[in-house]
Amino acid sequence: MSESFIPYGRQSLDDDDIAAVVEVLRGDWLTQGPKIPAFEEAVAERVGAKHGVAVATGTAALHAACFAADIGPGDEIITSPITFAASGNCALYLGASVKFADIRPDTYCLDPAKLEAAITPRTKAIIPIDYTGQPCDIDAINEIASRHGITVIQDAAHALGATYKGRPVGSLAAMSIFSFHPVKHVTMGEGGLIATDDDELAGRLRLFRTHGITNDPARIRLGDQAADNDGTQLRGGNANEPAPWYYEMQALGFNYRITDIQCALGLSQLGKLERFLARRRALAKRYTAAFSDSSALVVPHQEADRESAWHLYMLRLRLDRIDKTRRQVFEALRARKIGVHVHYIPLHLQPYYRDKFGYRRGDFPEAEAFYDAALTIPLYPGMTDRDCERVIQSVFEAL
Ligand SMILES: *Cc1c(COP(=O)(O)O)cnc(C)c1O
Repeated sequence: MSESFIPYGRQSLDDDDIAAVVEVLRGDWLTQGPKIPAFEEAVAERVGAKHGVAVATGTAALHAACFAADIGPGDEIITSPITFAASGNCALYLGASVKFADIRPDTYCLDPAKLEAAITPRTKAIIPIDYTGQPCDIDAINEIASRHGITVIQDAAHALGATYKGRPVGSLAAMSIFSFHPVKHVTMGEGGLIATDDDELAGRLRLFRTHGITNDPARIRLGDQAADNDGTQLRGGNANEPAPWYYEMQALGFNYRITDIQCALGLSQLGKLERFLARRRALAKRYTAAFSDSSALVVPHQEADRESAWHLYMLRLRLDRIDKTRRQVFEALRARKIGVHVHYIPLHLQPYYRDKFGYRRGDFPEAEAFYDAALTIPLYPGMTDRDCERVIQSVFEAL
């Protein structure tokens, strides 16, 4: 029997996940029903935040967070070069510029010292990544940000369930964003969420996800404009209270709503998060035990004061100690049906960023050196012990 392909990540869905979705399909609300607040509250509680605002994707969550942070033309954000494009694009959508600070060579997360040096009077937000699921140096980053009056938007798309000094990711920054794409810890097909303790930010996030329109009496301005817009208020009723149908567009938002169908799946999946995390951690431990003695490989360094959620398992090849290129190792693994990948091509080297901002190779040496030798190997809760052994053996063969 030929061996099957082992992808680098994939969802784990059971019959009860499917049943949860079917139940919504048979009910009254496909969208804007009770599953959305139920999901938001469940995630907020799990990550230790007061509010959860669910949106269409993790990218939409980043975009909404940048809007809530009041980012616009002339502003700059600083992020890590080793991230998915969305971590920078979210600021570009609002007309701001994207700057980078280099990574720590051991954790591959934003280096606080480099970050501090990259701050200018225009810096409006820092978007650090909990790369691979290990929390970034959030205390140091928050300290720098508060000294400069800058908002921190933690891109925790890799880190649902991770902890930092015993505190859950989601409770550590002004806003933290999560993704529920199928390769992430729990899935709803597509989906995202912003966690925050701040009532005002939560209000702005909710406004942004519904076209900038609100019918919330607490948010309606009820000024001259409201009276003008709603002439009936002037002719009877209470002028301090909007008419029952009244709504107001106060900003240019988007339709970034999530559906009850997706939130039902998300809620069902969230119930399995602890099991998924335990399995990811066990597989990562097995990999580290197998690879840490190899002189050809660098295994992921873990800081003692944080626990990774293990979204990705990154190997770094010691290209000086093997007589193969990264590409040869990659292709040898793919030929063995091991779904290796590379996360990520440094964002500053993408043609769009180079053309727009003039970035070039050499700008962020640690990020580039990491990228040149990085290899993502498969890691997802549904991997069997046998799959794990096959990956380990294939890596040694490919070297
Ligand atoms: C997945 C991911 C996102 C975007 O999430 P989507 O739900 O795919 O839009 C953002 N940042 C990072 C680091 C990610 O891995």
